[in-house]
Amino acid sequence: MAVGTRRIRTALVSAPLVLLAVASGAGCGKPGSPPVKGPEPDALPRYQVDHTFRLPGSATWTAARKRGHLVVGAKEDQPYMGEKDPANGVYSGFDIEIAKMTAASLGFGPAAVRFRTIASANRETALQNGQIDYYVGTYTINAKRKRLVGFAGPYYMAGQSLLVRSDEHGIDGPRDLDGKRVCSAAGSTPYQRIKDDYPRAELVAYDTYSVCVDNLLTYQVDAVTTDDTILMGYAAKAPDALKVVGRPFSKEPYGIGVPRDDNALRFALDDAIVAHEKNGDWRKAYDATLGLSGRKPAPAPAVDRYPAN
Ligand code: GLU
Repeated sequence: MAVGTRRIRTALVSAPLVLLAVASGAGCGKPGSPPVKGPEPDALPRYQVDHTFRLPGSATWTAARKRGHLVVGAKEDQPYMGEKDPANGVYSGFDIEIAKMTAASLGFGPAAVRFRTIASANRETALQNGQIDYYVGTYTINAKRKRLVGFAGPYYMAGQSLLVRSDEHGIDGPRDLDGKRVCSAAGSTPYQRIKDDYPRAELVAYDTYSVCVDNLLTYQVDAVTTDDTILMGYAAKAPDALKVVGRPFSKEPYGIGVPRDDNALRFALDDAIVAHEKNGDWRKAYDATLGLSGRKPAPAPAVDRYPAN
């Protein structure tokens, strides 16, 4: 990693403040610009809780049932996807809705779902050591991760993209990154792709993308790279200061991470995703969250119910 712990800590403390200042400055917006507010609670669907649901074959579900609530890993600084309100600790966003709708199918109402923020680099360990029951947070399904955890889904398809300052005119795609400072999150697929495929970029890693955005706004880096879903959320919150450029240059199918051996839980979550896509909850949740960033709804990819491990 290119950065020392002290610098990470400093950046972590200052980041939300800078972004908040920019976001509230942009609050008045131009006509037609997306709203800077979070999802309207009234617009969110209510999910039918299946109180008759039982899953004795799943050690994870059984332990959660005994405990009385599910612990779901999530992100807390990704606008419209997974965002925690610092005032009241409430999480919101498309990923949060995916967590709630699938939890309802497993018999857990919204009050019985507790969210826990886990950074990109720590997801596999959190699932392996039982810190969380499952994880919903812009988590790309890939072969390397599948050796460590299981994935239900996919429930969404994103693509890697670039976020720059509005006054930047020299960066339109990953080929323009030669000699530029580019920031991404440690342990993420976008970080790895720049490292492997665009080695001339000067890559910087932090724990979270909001720290990268802070560094972008303060001219310490030239671009932030990760999924378009995440970047469009930041751009929508600060449309005068930030823009997403170029076309997505990867495919990032989002899955729900589960403990690797808990096939019963994985299949139950697959079923839940399909059911909520069919009954319209998925689309309603999308419109009330990620749709507010101005991102058009990409059709949900088919669930890949791969055989038991
Ligand atoms: N989807 C990518 C990944 O799973 C980037 C977003 C993230 O870090 O959560 O690594």
